[in-house]
Amino acid sequence: MSYSDQTVVHAVDAIEHYLNNKLPETKLWEHSFVKKQIDRREHQETFTIEDHIRGMVYSMLSSGAKWDRVVDGIDDSTGKITPIDELFHNYDMEYILSGSSDFFTERIKEICGATQSTRKQMEALIKNNIPLLSKIEKQYGSIDSCYKKYIDEDSTMKRLIEELSSPESFLKMNQMGEALNAEYLRNVGYDIAKPDRHIRRILGSKVLGCSVWETVPIYEAMDIVQSIAESMGKHCAEIDYLLWMYCANGYGEICTIRNPKCDICVIREFCIQKKEG
Ligand code: SF4
Repeated sequence: MSYSDQTVVHAVDAIEHYLNNKLPETKLWEHSFVKKQIDRREHQETFTIEDHIRGMVYSMLSSGAKWDRVVDGIDDSTGKITPIDELFHNYDMEYILSGSSDFFTERIKEICGATQSTRKQMEALIKNNIPLLSKIEKQYGSIDSCYKKYIDEDSTMKRLIEELSSPESFLKMNQMGEALNAEYLRNVGYDIAKPDRHIRRILGSKVLGCSVWETVPIYEAMDIVQSIAESMGKHCAEIDYLLWMYCANGYGEICTIRNPKCDICVIREFCIQKKEG
């Protein structure tokens, strides 16, 4: 089965139908933070350095930990994580740069729990990433203008993700690899997938069979999501969100990593693992 196969489209349809009936409206795509950012970009709104810092902080928070730990703090009308926005003073650059990584790490621990990476991420944010975003803004007029240069060369945004992730690049964001940078860009309204562990597994050879890999490589996962999105006439980020919600704790909680609920799964007829017993 290939990812262009209608089977995968049927699977995503079934997932959407299931989630629409199971989850409160506020958790669905139309109300999500990501959808609101994509709408803003489509309406040519300017993304400020504060927007970029927020997008980066949210992606860092999602790394290596379950997202449901922040769900209680999400504002239903904006999709923003209110206690985190308050902690960072709505991403006021001067305020953050005058603080310490220890302070932000300890406060994140109190709000939603930290991970082993949080301290290093906060250090990276203060010592490198925010000063770099500020430098880019000064040099290009806006961060978006700089990124546009790379997006014009490669509209899939892999080139830009490479630049943000590569240690040799002027744009290297510390503590941010390809997957987190894709998520950061998605958080500032670029319509791409966030190829996290759920997405890479559900698209893989053991579940939907869109790749020969059990865990699909990051860029291949992005291509597969884009292909599904084109077939369905939806945003890449929406396909990504549907697949992610189906797996994530605090959302669909069906194809979870540790305890998949195959008996009530609405895509079990398409699932390789299930078919093979
Ligand atoms: S049948 Fe089980 S493993 Fe397959 S998609 Fe459904 S929950 Fe996941």
